[in-house]
Amino acid sequence: MEKPWNIHHKQDDAFTEAGDDPNIHIFAVEPVISLQNNRSGRKFIACTYEKFWWEYQKMMKNNWPRHFYEVIRENKPCHLYFDLEFLKESNTEVDANKIVDDLICFSCNKLESDFGIVCSEWNVLRLDSSTSEKFSQHLIFRIPGIAFRSNFEVGDFVEELCENPEFRHRLTIHSGGQDKLIVDKAVYTKNRHFRLFQSCKKGKEALLLRSDHCKFEFDTLHVPLSQEMAQSNKIFGPELSQCGNNKSIFYASLICNVDDTDIYLIPFEIKKRTPNVPISSGRVPSFTHDSFYSDFDCLELNDYVKSLIQTNDTPGHIGSIEYDAEENTVKYSIRGNRYCRNIGRQHKSNNVYYLAYLDQRVIIQRCYDRQSCRDFFSLPIRIPKNVVRCLEEGMYITDVPNEDLLDHIENEIKQENNDS
Ligand SMILES: [Zn+2]
Repeated sequence: MEKPWNIHHKQDDAFTEAGDDPNIHIFAVEPVISLQNNRSGRKFIACTYEKFWWEYQKMMKNNWPRHFYEVIRENKPCHLYFDLEFLKESNTEVDANKIVDDLICFSCNKLESDFGIVCSEWNVLRLDSSTSEKFSQHLIFRIPGIAFRSNFEVGDFVEELCENPEFRHRLTIHSGGQDKLIVDKAVYTKNRHFRLFQSCKKGKEALLLRSDHCKFEFDTLHVPLSQEMAQSNKIFGPELSQCGNNKSIFYASLICNVDDTDIYLIPFEIKKRTPNVPISSGRVPSFTHDSFYSDFDCLELNDYVKSLIQTNDTPGHIGSIEYDAEENTVKYSIRGNRYCRNIGRQHKSNNVYYLAYLDQRVIIQRCYDRQSCRDFFSLPIRIPKNVVRCLEEGMYITDVPNEDLLDHIENEIKQENNDS
């Protein structure tokens, strides 16, 4: 029998098989029979959605155990998603459906205030695998024409949402004797595995299925009907309608199912600064590693910052550039390299940024971390003379350098870091 796909033992090998083909996606699977009962036991598949669905729905028909996950790849566009859970026993007073309705409402309000995007519960797919002990849902926002640049930006969006006091007040649950948000903020990390519709966790029985409270409107999305599906009509006859319905849910549930022909990625940083720019004019034609959304055009400084973040083992790149003309500073948000000069190693989840103070001719590294590195400023890195000359030629700096000021800043920062 022909193998439906190659099974890789390493995720990187599946990435290699996918190459640059935007139609090939990565899935992870926990083998039904495996000696290891941990994540390292997962295997990886690279294939198109269509091919995957074709094999997957056969497993569904035959009631085979399914432990499949979508791999939300680093630096790839994706949709807004949430992972929600709590133990029912310690939250008997919580109205789960009300709390999810509130979450959707807060999210829609924020999408409208930040980006001018109007959406509602009709755009939200609710999948549920709750049991008598535990409430567990996935929410996937499918707004036609809209996606986030990557799941890091989704994480930023969710982080900001969770800072809203009213949100915190309404979406808190109890967990292990503590108050905690219903939102799991740990699901926005690099190459995250997110369980698929119609799969269950290994050793468990609760499938992830469409929630009875889901009001998602499928008409807005296009689901391809392939020859294979047309053929399955003959094979499976009247059951197709149910199967076709499942196919619509499956396609809508894929976090990375971003259509490059009509999706406008949200350039997150610049949208925040210029909220009146209509979405359609902010179109990013294709995703590139160096995504510049800035009118700052001193390429020499950009290259110098790149040289700071490109080390052999972790080749970072610049995610966005924000020029603040009033302060005369340039903020470089870094992706792919989270090396922090405060802790002397890579951060696990938060990104870092470099702030260039043009008048002072220095660059300082800071962190997006809200805890340990909140007040950290790295020692200033002096911008090389040839780059300073380019900044002067570009009229970004006009006054003479002040060596005393430089020394002063260095001392201030040393003092500050010693104190904290
Ligand atoms: Zn840090």
